[in-house]
Amino acid sequence: KKRKQKFQVHHLQELFETKLGAKHVDYEQSTASIVKKCCEEFSSDNDEPFYIVNLSHYARQYLQWMHFLGRIHPFYAIKSNPKNFIIEIIAELGGGFDCASSEELNLVRETCGNNFDYATRIIFAHPCKSISHIRQFRQVGVQMTVADNEDELKKLKEHWPDAKVLLRLKPDDRHSLSPFSMKFGANERECITLLRLARKLNINLVGCSFHVGSQCLDPKVYTETLKQARRIFDIAQQDEFGFNFKILDIGGGFSGYDWDKPSFPEVAKIINNTLDKLFPKLEDITIISEPGRYFSSGGMTLVTRIIARRIHNRVYKSNEKIVKLERNISGSTSNSFENNDDSDNNSKSDKALIENADNIYYINDGIYGTFNAIIFDHKTFIVHYLKMKKDKKKKYPQFRSVIFGPTCDSTDCIAHSIDLPLLDIGDVLWFPGVGSYTNASASNFNGFQTKKYIFIWKK
Ligand code: PLP
Repeated sequence: KKRKQKFQVHHLQELFETKLGAKHVDYEQSTASIVKKCCEEFSSDNDEPFYIVNLSHYARQYLQWMHFLGRIHPFYAIKSNPKNFIIEIIAELGGGFDCASSEELNLVRETCGNNFDYATRIIFAHPCKSISHIRQFRQVGVQMTVADNEDELKKLKEHWPDAKVLLRLKPDDRHSLSPFSMKFGANERECITLLRLARKLNINLVGCSFHVGSQCLDPKVYTETLKQARRIFDIAQQDEFGFNFKILDIGGGFSGYDWDKPSFPEVAKIINNTLDKLFPKLEDITIISEPGRYFSSGGMTLVTRIIARRIHNRVYKSNEKIVKLERNISGSTSNSFENNDDSDNNSKSDKALIENADNIYYINDGIYGTFNAIIFDHKTFIVHYLKMKKDKKKKYPQFRSVIFGPTCDSTDCIAHSIDLPLLDIGDVLWFPGVGSYTNASASNFNGFQTKKYIFIWKK
């Protein structure tokens, strides 16, 4: 099995070298040096922003998944980053897909063609579907979907009577950064009503699904929801209902970063232990999952340029400020931020922070683009800088800075207060790990959008 996987990965590497010009990069090479090289090679006379995509990341995540959660088939949640290259890699390695709309389904069709097994490798994982989308999924041969309310069951009876339907449960997702339970999911009492209706309508209920909320910080939620699923599996079997549930879908919510806590192996261990107790292998239940950010987060780095600046040139006389600057000189060259998240200045208004900043920079991607994830995904970005003009200084004093995006809108502010050295027009700000819920939900407002992708394959 391992030899086969190695062969598949090697094949993908060669395929993407030919197809997308993905350059092979040594595994040891730092992202900083790759960014520098790309800036020199691809954009020395071009200040457009671009993404560096490390295609081997998606294969690595797939292999890691199979290593730690081998019982569970991953169905990549396309919404987190709907790009053909991710779909192609995951499909080649054997994964399936969670599609929530006709457009997402079309992406799989474009990438995987007609021979793909739509019946077993796609789930239409939206509990509230439009009829035109149902028609298309059905036409293509998709069989699995989810429902969490009576009207959806009636809709399926009329428009997709042969669907295999999973009941979507409602977990306690308080500890997730993006909870979904106020919008989707049925509690246990509602599930029983749905079981009764499904029996009456002769709907083919085949199992349960759930989503613990995106960026789930407490893995115990998986345990608790799996217990809930077990109870529904048991109730569904009772004579009154007579179903024989065979599919369990444990949704998404897994982190995409190695440094996040709890780590993926830790979460996997908790899930495996619970599954072994509640859904032992003997029972022959197919277990699937819908990871989105787990696959997509770490694969992309955004590279932007400073296109304009406003330098306030303050003279630093106060001792306090000098101490502060010195502390920062010996600090890291990177900063992370969630827009205006600065503990010293939390009480100040954004306007005051901007007015009191030392320097203001304008870069060529912003809140309407990649950084929409600050608003929609509670995302924390990590910023690094790269000075393009050679300078003998090794360390640079840091200044309170503001970073604006490129549009004409003043809400297009990426960071209200962040420590950065004095940077010039043409210098680079780059942001690693921007692959999920970023380009997927970016707009073209004001004519600005990061469209260029540079591909590498880190070995
Ligand atoms: N499945 C469903 C139904 C979702 O709504 C989402 C996210 O919105 C996902 C899977 C992917 O979640 P995550 O990116 O947290 O893995």
